[in-house]
Amino acid sequence: MHLVRFLARETEEPENGELHGEMILSPRGEIPLSQVRLLAPCLPTKIICVGRNYAAHAQELGNEVPTRPLLFFKPPSAVIGPEEEIVLPQSSLVHHEAELAVVIGKRCRNVPAAEAVDVILGYTCLNDISDREAQKWEKNWVRAKGFDTSAPLGPVIVTKDEIEGPFHVMLRVNGKTRQDGSTRDFIFPIPVLIEEISSVMTLEPGDVIATGTPSGVGPLASGDIVRWRSTGSVFCAIACADRPASTHNEECAPLRV
Ligand code: ZN
Repeated sequence: MHLVRFLARETEEPENGELHGEMILSPRGEIPLSQVRLLAPCLPTKIICVGRNYAAHAQELGNEVPTRPLLFFKPPSAVIGPEEEIVLPQSSLVHHEAELAVVIGKRCRNVPAAEAVDVILGYTCLNDISDREAQKWEKNWVRAKGFDTSAPLGPVIVTKDEIEGPFHVMLRVNGKTRQDGSTRDFIFPIPVLIEEISSVMTLEPGDVIATGTPSGVGPLASGDIVRWRSTGSVFCAIACADRPASTHNEECAPLRV
């Protein structure tokens, strides 16, 4: 299943549905994709991010490869849907980081790696927008990684029965490929991440684990159109602005591939 959350023109409440081609199946019937605005596909209570999970990315920023997963948070307030804009912070350097996002399907704690797949709902795309300037001077990356709009998420959750890793993770800016990697190169695979994280905290349905970015991270500027995918099924496309725009850019509509 391809799960989406959306706002239809005639209602003001977010709804859930399944995307089938250009149609959404929802409890109140079939709704054409063209009639809705897609939202982030889940509402995480927390986003747990994994830093430096690809050796080539650790090297490109001059960092050591970690011996235990390097974890940090992005707050739920950082999440935006696929038709919103990244509002760039005041910084001399803001980077994109295309990532495979694992969406948790049930409340869990102390999950052994061998059983980790049981707690996964599915997979989606996250862009871990990062203020490198702040990342240099603050240790815990709250300002570097937690600002509003720094977690574009979606547009669909592909359920685990439909897709199996390894996943292709790629990103383009203004049509040019910047990142093109595979989760085959993970230092810590998904089951190990779930075991490690759930040994510390309870995971809730809709929580997101952002699994790290492959090499090729690079700068974003106002007006850039960023497209990325991590599940092989849907591109997420988002524009950058230095202030929120009042209208949606046509270029931002999610594209089927
Ligand atoms: Zn990241």
